[in-house]
Amino acid sequence: MDLYEYQARNVFTAHGVPTLPGITATTPDEAYEAAKQLLAHSDLLVVKAQVKTGGRGKAGGVKLARSAEEAKEKAAAVLGMDIKGHTVHTVLIAAGADIAEEYYFSILLDRAGRRHLAMCSKEGGMDIETLAAERPQALARIGLDPNIGIDANVAARILSDAGFDTESAQKIVPILVALWDTYRDEDATLVEVNPLVLTDDCTILALDGKVSLDDNAAFRHPHYAELVDQRTEDPREAQAKAAGLNYVRLNGDVGIIGNGAGLVMSTLDVVAMSGEDLGVKPANFLDIGGGASAKVMADGLSIVLGDEQVKSVFVNVFGGITACDQVAQGIVGALEALGAAATKPIVVRLDGNRVNEGRAILAHVNHPLVHMAETMDGAARLAAELAAK
Ligand code: GDP
Ligand code: MN
Repeated sequence: MDLYEYQARNVFTAHGVPTLPGITATTPDEAYEAAKQLLAHSDLLVVKAQVKTGGRGKAGGVKLARSAEEAKEKAAAVLGMDIKGHTVHTVLIAAGADIAEEYYFSILLDRAGRRHLAMCSKEGGMDIETLAAERPQALARIGLDPNIGIDANVAARILSDAGFDTESAQKIVPILVALWDTYRDEDATLVEVNPLVLTDDCTILALDGKVSLDDNAAFRHPHYAELVDQRTEDPREAQAKAAGLNYVRLNGDVGIIGNGAGLVMSTLDVVAMSGEDLGVKPANFLDIGGGASAKVMADGLSIVLGDEQVKSVFVNVFGGITACDQVAQGIVGALEALGAAATKPIVVRLDGNRVNEGRAILAHVNHPLVHMAETMDGAARLAAELAAK
């Protein structure tokens, strides 16, 4: 889960990373009130669009203000704005900094390198992809030992690699250590500060924050749930999460349900390949897991059938712990519950544990929407053809 900047700032504050105070607002009047409070401590304010995408500054979503009236006007301009397909529902009114220098710092899970990676540059503020492409030598990359992370020594090395002199580095070291604490303690996969600034009065501050949390660690962090924005969450993904299903929505036409992440991934590949000439693609990833009950299967099928982009569904189950008769009962149950509302063809390929019982259940019900298939390739092609119709 990606956090909004204001949430990232709260997480930073909790871990001792210095930021400036801010208050969120969803209307210009709220922005006015927030600005009045903040102006008691700061004569410069920043009105910042809260959307989960970068480049807000360039898109006009970050504006400076020096009075409550001006903050209100700027908030009115930013609220409702579209930034790369994200509508601005909330702005952060924050105390502003007088910037002397802008730096870049991040820690991320480098999956390809199988390690945690720190990246640091004296040339912050700009888009990091651009910097990495145009001036790679200006971006220091340091792989981290997970048992150490970033302590004072590692921080000093990162900063020296990035070209900071010892005196500036001294001031920044504790902040990098605190950002590592944030990354580790929150089970983050990304903590990025761009810009990390040096102010005119020589303090270092995180002026922006991007934090991604590892959903697989959510069970260790009950507070993750409060960070979810119900307004922008995909309703199907929310429904799947509530049902304990592993579901990811994609942009395609063939709903995919299988047991085990590996099988579901290869099912996606096979459908993508056999649907290529028809312009048909998989619509989602849905893993019902091992030992799924009829109820889990039915829940999964109704989520996939409820997706308006889905034209056909491919259920691909290789029963190991999962029993094919439970899967078949789940399909029948979901179709019964839907009744006349069920209109999309379902291609079912069952194999393995209790396959004969499973096939017998489907044969007995003989539902007009259910197509039995013998092989994975044949089933994928049939599902693609049915979706293309
Ligand atoms: P992003 O464009 O989405 O990364 O949003 P940022 O929060 O990084 O802001 C973009 C740019 O706005 C920064 O690089 C700064 O140049 C400017 N900016 C943001 N906050 C302040 C501030 O407090 N004071 C000043 N002077 N400029 C700011
Ligand atoms: Mn930024």
